[in-house]
Amino acid sequence: SALSGILSGALGGCLCGYLLYVRQRSGKEILQGIRRNQFYIVWQPVVESKNLTMTGAEVLMRWEHPTAGAIPPDAFINFAEAQQLIVPLTRHLFKLIAKEAPLLMDILPQGAKLGVNIAPGHLHSPEFKEDIRQFAASLPDGHFQVVFEITERDMIKEKEAVSLFAWLHQQGFEIAVDDFGTGHSALIYLERFTMDYLKIDRGFVNAIGTETVTSPVLDAVITLARRLNMTTVAEGVETWEQTKWLRDRGVNYLQGFFFSRPVRVAQLIDWQRQRSG
Ligand code: C2E
Ligand code: CA
Ligand code: CA
Ligand code: CA
Repeated sequence: SALSGILSGALGGCLCGYLLYVRQRSGKEILQGIRRNQFYIVWQPVVESKNLTMTGAEVLMRWEHPTAGAIPPDAFINFAEAQQLIVPLTRHLFKLIAKEAPLLMDILPQGAKLGVNIAPGHLHSPEFKEDIRQFAASLPDGHFQVVFEITERDMIKEKEAVSLFAWLHQQGFEIAVDDFGTGHSALIYLERFTMDYLKIDRGFVNAIGTETVTSPVLDAVITLARRLNMTTVAEGVETWEQTKWLRDRGVNYLQGFFFSRPVRVAQLIDWQRQRSG
């Protein structure tokens, strides 16, 4: 029926329970969660495809709610944006990163990449540049290369995005298009923006080895990235077969449960010590 269509559209995906739950909450809980330290970060290693050594990690946020338990970021990030709280939440994220990044200097070489997700509500806010400056100043001097991950659908305000990306490059940051292939539209943006990395959405990676022997769309995405001089990162790599397939096609970096789930900083350090020792 029309109603069920609307409902399933509105609630789509497996996060609907959480989304509903979060929508009944007030934005105050986010501010309270920040003050009471309910948010924390986890790190997921990114490896180079040719030798599988770790070259960096992506930072992912978590909310351990006192009564609801763990609320996934897909739910609370959208909620924070809707409540106009993405700016304080991202500032808090930056502080959490600044606290933990120095612990990773022993296991990550100079120039290692730290992937940080930026929500569109923050990107387009007047505070953005100042927040970024402060974040940069809070990191160990020159050790890490920060890569801001931005989704395709967030680049709609084209003029603004072009100058913002130029500014980020001037400041020494790199930019990745996140979830490539899932956004509404816009291959055209790839030509207009200068972005360094293209993150291939895990939907494509999932299909490797299941649906068909070859994946023409994924092949085309990889070719496109190469033609545009972008470095490729495949997300959601869960099997050796996917690893091999992606490496054979020249995808530069890999990330996924096959290597490690996102983990707390201490576990990431253990993981790397075990691998290299
Ligand atoms: P994303 O940026 O695409 O992050 C990758 C997501 O894929 C993470 O989910 C990660 O746990 C999951 N993942 C990684 N490897 C695998 C795999 O092999 N298989 C499967 N099935 N999943 C894998 P997570 O942590 O739940 O984050 C979901 C989304 O929430 C992120 O998607 C990102 O868009 C957003 N997010 C997370 N942390 C932050 C943050 O600090 N700031 C902002 N703005 N957004 C965030
Ligand atoms: Ca990301
Ligand atoms: Ca992604
Ligand atoms: Ca995502």
